[in-house]
Amino acid sequence: MLLEELRALKETAWCNPKYRPFAEAMKNCALSLWDVKDAEARLARFADYFKVAFPETVASGGLLESPLQNIPAMQKEMEKQCGASLGGALWIKLDSHLAVSGSIKARGGIYEVLKLAETVALEKGLLQPGDDYSVFDTPKFREVFSGYSVAVGSTGNLGLSIGIMSAKLGFRVTVHMSADARQWKKDMLRSKGVKVVEYASDYSVAVTKGREEAKNDPTCHFVDDENSQTLFLGYAVAALRLQKQLEEKGIPVDDMHPLHVYLPCGVGGGPGGVAFGLKLVFGDHVKCFFAEPTHAPCMILGMATGKHNEISVADLGIDGITAADGLAVGRASGFVGKFMEPFLSGCYTITDERMYSLLRRLWDTEDIRLEPSALAGMYGAVMTQQHEAFRSFRSTGNTTHLVWATGGSMVPPEELGKYYEKGKD
Ligand SMILES: *Cc1c(COP(=O)(O)O)cnc(C)c1O
Repeated sequence: MLLEELRALKETAWCNPKYRPFAEAMKNCALSLWDVKDAEARLARFADYFKVAFPETVASGGLLESPLQNIPAMQKEMEKQCGASLGGALWIKLDSHLAVSGSIKARGGIYEVLKLAETVALEKGLLQPGDDYSVFDTPKFREVFSGYSVAVGSTGNLGLSIGIMSAKLGFRVTVHMSADARQWKKDMLRSKGVKVVEYASDYSVAVTKGREEAKNDPTCHFVDDENSQTLFLGYAVAALRLQKQLEEKGIPVDDMHPLHVYLPCGVGGGPGGVAFGLKLVFGDHVKCFFAEPTHAPCMILGMATGKHNEISVADLGIDGITAADGLAVGRASGFVGKFMEPFLSGCYTITDERMYSLLRRLWDTEDIRLEPSALAGMYGAVMTQQHEAFRSFRSTGNTTHLVWATGGSMVPPEELGKYYEKGKD
């Protein structure tokens, strides 16, 4: 039934039967809150570096963090469209507006490059524990880092993150881009001295090629989007930051006030890391859902069949072609799919047409401009309220629906304008 709907490219939802209460889910878990706090502390150490290297981060104390915002006008519009109440309040987490690289990849991607830089600096005796990290922005450090390279395969945004951060620190960096990657992303990277290799094929091929090339070079660090625990932990830090933002805004998360979080999913590392962090912070009170395009439902397919990275959407005859370039992934990360089995509440799919339509409505109602991928999560509140598979999550009024808006602020205005036009009914 589910597979039939996926094959027919219909919007659908899947409730995860392997979900477990938090205490039970943590029993065999390889990662803990300690790991996430370790990542948070590393980012804090780099705050002095960010303030000098990226002066736009001075206002946030050298941390990359995004606003949490209420979107009541959009909520009203969606309730009108679906003809029912969403059973709570609609909020948005604007990772689209993260400094430096303008997407959720500014969390995991940048974190992994910083961890590499710190490791090299310590190994080379350039750095002592407790030092002011603004030294990373000096010619001496750049000189040392130029002896190392970084490589990554990407549909676009991870490449932007890794490329911008690596080049800034002085690493040599190569981004292997899949056919889905937008031209402006390649142009921007090249303008910053990043080597961009283009492939006519999809994301998996770009990653595989990148991995092969890196294997032959001992000075090369390959950022493995399909398997990296480091990326995953970088994403997870978001949860600790969100906890503070919710407190500041007086939004309770408890037995009476569940938090639903809707995360657009590609290979899975970004949404998986954020969702895992949220479970560590809020336990059973948070329910996490992944959103995927109908043309690239790799995570729902991998998790529902239990085959994880051993099945691809192509095996169902699905083409993987979607306007949501950040989500154009045919095969999910095996690591993330397996890891998330006891933590994830469910997945759903959404058509490109609906993403465009939501993009236009969000622009009109709230003046927020996002790339199509970032709208996949917007439909989550409607799905949990109305889809039969999600009936156990239906809310009577106290749910906080949080849409994770994953990218968009770096998209050139003329590209955004084209997206807006496509959202006309
Ligand atoms: C990468 C990306 C995602 C999904 O992250 P994955 O780690 O690939 O699952 C979602 N939205 C945008 C805009 C992205 O760039």
